[in-house]
Amino acid sequence: MTPGSNVAERIDIYDTTLRDGSQGQGVSFSTADKLRIAERLDAFGVHYIEGGWPGSNPKDIEFFEGAKHRTFRCAKLAAFGSTRRKGARASDDSQVRLLVEAETPVVTIFGKTWLLHVREVLQTTPEENLAMIEDTVKLLKSHGRFVVYDGEHAFDGYKDDPEYALATWKAAERGGADIVVLCDTNGGSVPGEIVDIVRSARARLTARLGIHTHDDIGLGVANALAAIEAGATHVQGTFNGYGERVGNCSLTTLIPTLEFKLKKKSVPSQSLALLKELSGFLDEVANVRPNPRLPWVGSAAFSHKGGTHVNAVQKLLRSYEHVDPALVGNTRHVLISELAGRSNIIMKARELGFDVTKETPRLEAILKRVKKLEHEGYEFEAADGSLALLIRRTLKEEPPPFSVDAYHVSMRSDGSATVCEATVKVRAGNEHAHTVADGDGPVNALDRALRSALIKFYPDLEAMHLTDYKVRIVDSSRGTAAKTRVLIESSDET
Ligand SMILES: [Zn+2]
Repeated sequence: MTPGSNVAERIDIYDTTLRDGSQGQGVSFSTADKLRIAERLDAFGVHYIEGGWPGSNPKDIEFFEGAKHRTFRCAKLAAFGSTRRKGARASDDSQVRLLVEAETPVVTIFGKTWLLHVREVLQTTPEENLAMIEDTVKLLKSHGRFVVYDGEHAFDGYKDDPEYALATWKAAERGGADIVVLCDTNGGSVPGEIVDIVRSARARLTARLGIHTHDDIGLGVANALAAIEAGATHVQGTFNGYGERVGNCSLTTLIPTLEFKLKKKSVPSQSLALLKELSGFLDEVANVRPNPRLPWVGSAAFSHKGGTHVNAVQKLLRSYEHVDPALVGNTRHVLISELAGRSNIIMKARELGFDVTKETPRLEAILKRVKKLEHEGYEFEAADGSLALLIRRTLKEEPPPFSVDAYHVSMRSDGSATVCEATVKVRAGNEHAHTVADGDGPVNALDRALRSALIKFYPDLEAMHLTDYKVRIVDSSRGTAAKTRVLIESSDET
């Protein structure tokens, strides 16, 4: 089966969170973040993951290098780039060569639909633009790639000159493109226009059609759904709608709408209950404050203000909810169900390798502890390591492997240089260690002092190093006295 071959009625989900999404304001992913996200997206069941543009930055090349050593269960990885330069051969174009060298099963290239862009931006002729599209697709096909062709400004271009727009898509089709995607790049189209233009493309092209929309006037998802109704079977978007300007078509909204409202299949049905968790994980890794008003998964999506009797409210609520929030892993807010909490913990604990059932006596203690910490501002969505330690200690009633008895950190500045020094007293069993270290700042100095103390007791820690470190203000209204949440990622050599 070739990547993306059609299963009847299935809408293929093409995720561009790592490329278009990372262009969103305040969103920044390290290479390690991107690999971690790709694994989660694959587990969720998206069909394509666009990893980045190898021709645009070294970080994206590094991502594709890292991805070569991983196997994805369901998703096909796509490298993104553009058609060849004007007046050159596709095989001589370094940007196109990097796309081939990324060694992904899928390559997506964008090309110009709109004559305005052909003339003013590319400063070339309409004919050369058509040749650039056809040649580049052909070259990528000759390397055995599944080729997705993104027609940039498809709708604006069509409105300006329908025949030329169609000619560009036909050029991609002649080159052998497997999917032709119509992009509302500027995000200003409305559903009626989308339907008309997708229908006219459907009538004239034989390739599968896809849709890529932006949310500039709040219609990103509506426009994608309109295109699907008109015959597109491949949809591009980002989770939580991250993306340039106000963002892309949000897959977090689109996927459950396809499943529960339009009865169209996309990702595996059992993934839908994990949607809220995935959305929270991405916010955490992107270091973005979760939007409570996000449709389907936001904390306000199923929250009801009301102080009436619980039983009466429960009856009434059904009439105020369009679906059961559990379908997307969300919960109703006035009635945080103890049962739902328990089954979430059981599911998560099993995933982390613990043998836990609803009969496990310490389950209640784990749940209590998680709830207490979450109330204080901790967040476990992206912190599996911390959650695993919490479950393990609560289940086995294990004493902590070490304790920090005392620490001190001092910082001096003479106006130009800053010196930071930390001392730490650590105890493990009956043994003690007392260490001193310098650092660039208090966290760095404490990290070094603690590390050198712990290595005495646990030499394996020598191989562990910090791979990522993110700080988030939890209650910003308290200014510099605010609580902060720190997400730390460490790794060993393996
Ligand atoms: Zn885009």
